[in-house]
Amino acid sequence: MEKKISIAIDGPAGAGKSTIARRLAQELGYYYVDTGAIYRTVAYFFDLWGISPKDADGIARYIDELTIGMEYDADGVQHMIMNGMDVTGDIRSQEISQKASLVSAQPLVRELLLDMQREVARKHNVIMDGRDIGTVVLPKATVKIFLTATPEIRAERRTKELLARGEKADFAKILKEIQQRDYQDTHREIAPLKMARDSIKVDTQ
Ligand code: C5P
Repeated sequence: MEKKISIAIDGPAGAGKSTIARRLAQELGYYYVDTGAIYRTVAYFFDLWGISPKDADGIARYIDELTIGMEYDADGVQHMIMNGMDVTGDIRSQEISQKASLVSAQPLVRELLLDMQREVARKHNVIMDGRDIGTVVLPKATVKIFLTATPEIRAERRTKELLARGEKADFAKILKEIQQRDYQDTHREIAPLKMARDSIKVDTQ
């Protein structure tokens, strides 16, 4: 099989990774893999089962019950399929964001998703966004970008985005949630959020 091209985009929540990755994927005709959505699907599954994202034993007991699929619609939008059900719209709440950040610290979960992500990159040219793509998932990615901005700027953007969609948005609450996730994502033991040495840093202030 010919060698595939991979573009890794990492960075904290709300840095604009998915907007850029989606546009780039359309432009280049590559697969766009939003890896955060995969962690969110895992979080949603355990939430439905009433298992805490911190409960390693509970996760180990039920993880085999979970099957995750990814499908792409005509517009190239990634849909998350959990045990045959499209949960794309269900995984975007603040609550699931928090739970995804906690469940993603579980070694078993990271192990399971690692192969899944690498498999897509083995078969297709990809743009993958997440937290550990350039450092762990695709350490040999063709191009690595680390997208960042201050928590305040990211929270401001997210607030405006929600308000523009006619949803409720509280800047202080969003800022706190972003700071908490930043802390969890950078301090976990396995695959913490950090810039790969050979990454290009792009500050989006
Ligand atoms: O990118 P998004 O905000 O959707 O990701 C949700 C959570 O999933 C993040 O806060 C992070 O904890 C986790 N995640 C991860 N590794 C990735 C992508 C996301 O740990 N590659």
